[in-house]
Formats: sequence, C-alpha cells, structure tokens
Amino acid sequence: MSVKTRFAPSPTGNLHIGGARTALFNWLWAKKWNGKFVLRIEDTDRDRSSPEFEDSIKRDLKWLGLEWDEGPDVGGAHLPYRQSERLPLYLKILKKLEETDCVYPCYCTPEELEAERKAQLSRGMPPRYSGKCRNLTEEDRKKLEREGRVPSWRFKVQQRDGRIEFHDEVHGTYALSYSEVGDFIVMRSDGIPTYLFAAVVDDHFMEITHVIRGDEHLPNTTRQLLVFEALSWQPPSFAHIPMILSREGRKLSKREGAESIDDLRQRGYLPEAVRAYLATLSWAVEGEDFLFDLNEMAKRFELSSISKSSPIHDEERLRWW
Ligand code: GLU
Repeated sequence: MSVKTRFAPSPTGNLHIGGARTALFNWLWAKKWNGKFVLRIEDTDRDRSSPEFEDSIKRDLKWLGLEWDEGPDVGGAHLPYRQSERLPLYLKILKKLEETDCVYPCYCTPEELEAERKAQLSRGMPPRYSGKCRNLTEEDRKKLEREGRVPSWRFKVQQRDGRIEFHDEVHGTYALSYSEVGDFIVMRSDGIPTYLFAAVVDDHFMEITHVIRGDEHLPNTTRQLLVFEALSWQPPSFAHIPMILSREGRKLSKREGAESIDDLRQRGYLPEAVRAYLATLSWAVEGEDFLFDLNEMAKRFELSSISKSSPIHDEERLRWW
C-alpha cells in the first residue's frame, strides 16, 4: 500500500503538544509504510495567520525530527504547501459543484444568521442554517446583488432518512443524522474557502490516504464525506485521536497556555524525550527502549493501538524520559 499522510496546522500560534502529537502520528504512519508525509499550512484565516507562526511550526517540527517529503521545490528543499497559494484550485472545484447543483449562493448577512440562530436556540432547537437561500429565483438573486450583497456559497445537504456514517480507525463507527447537518459554507463571500472545503480538495489532490487528526474534527468529517461523495472522489481513511486534557480535565488549548514545543525546548528537554512522551500519551506500548529511535517507533506504530480515551498532560511524566 502506498501511504500518504499530512499534518495541516493553521499558523495561528506556536506548535503545542496536541499538534506535535498529531504530526508525530502522521509521520510514523507514513514512514511505517515507506510512504510520504506532507506539511500543509492552512492559512486561509488571513487575520489570524502569520508567517512567524508558520516559521516556528516548521522549526519545531524539524527539531522533533519530523521532516516533510513534499511541496514546492526550492533548491532541493521542500516548502510546505500553503492553502493561500491554491485559491484558483478551490474556485475551480466550486464551479464543478455549482454545475452539478450541489452548492448555492447564500446572501444572508452575519446579523441575519445570528438572529436565526438565536431564534432556534430559544425554541430549544439545535442551531442549523434554515436553507433560506436555497430556493431563491434568478430574479431574487439579481435583486440582492443589485443591493450590493455578495454571496457566500453553501453546500446543499440532501436531507435523507438515516445517518451519515463512517468507520474511524480509533473510535469505530461514528455517525450524525442528516437532520443534524445544515447546509454549510464552502466558500466565503471574499472568495476564501472554508476549512471544511479546502481540506477536502487538498486531501484529494495531494492523494492523502490517511487523515490522522484530533477528535474534535469527528463531526466535520461527516460533512467532508458529503463533499467527497458529491465530487465522486474516494475519501481517505480517518483516525481521530483523543484530545489531550490538562490535569484539571480541561481541554489544552493554545489560549489556555498549553505547553508549546518551543517552551519545552527552552526548558532543556531533548527532542527524543518529548517525542517519547507524546507517543505514550495516546499509544499503549510494550517496552520503551524503541521509543528513542524514530524509525524503530515507526515500525511498531499501529493506529489500532491508539487509545480512545483522552490522555492527561502531566509534566511530571515528561521528566521521567
Ligand atoms: N487546520 C486544521 C486544524 O488545525 C486541520 C485539521 C485537519 O487536520 O484536517 O485543526
């Protein structure tokens, strides 16, 4: 099997231990099969992304020994892929979805959407886009455009009975019922794709075979599978790894000051120790010596031995390594 994985950080902060564990597992899985590991910078959120964070993520990945194998070539070295450089591709695929009637322009303003959301919540309903713009006539659309409204584009979720289901390598069957999934935005009115859409297009064109990412993305995967289906593309396999929690049982987030790899380096930890610690956070291993050798670790790595439950980050344990 020819395996290709990717790590797809948004450059909106430093690499923290959650992201580093995701990168490590993707790297290990690719190398286990003599496959390739791709670094894709998801920088479509222009306000929050910065080149400084991109540089620090690359530096920290290299420090951990997790080099990527592909991307635009600069004198023998590879740059990572950057979504901001791939906008024409997303537009092209949006056109395709438009031709097959899988998307429609939505003229709702943020205020209108917020009012709709509040109304649904006050009626005890989970918020979901009503589909208001689905049935606008050509005439209605022209009128709204004359008023100066620029549409975003939404994916039409065909409401059927039953559930959108998939097999996850860590969690087993995961499903959402169609009625829980509203028509979601794939392209914003400024011509920038949403994460939900851009990641599908990239995973397809980069020929990614396995997506290993945090399990906060499980519900996103069901939506992304609908886009794969609409484009008649074969989706990759998915493995969603459990979120790392703090000792207080809270989500470790960048904002809460989750350990960044840079902090750990500055405190004097060696990359070998950090890697071994990250691996054992979610992976029940027998014998520990091999954890100091990346290639040996790759040989033994199995998606099926990743634990479903959330590990707790504890710096005391990191000190043992
Ligand atoms: N940019 C997304 C994130 O940082 C990537 C998720 C994915 O791997 O698909 O959460």
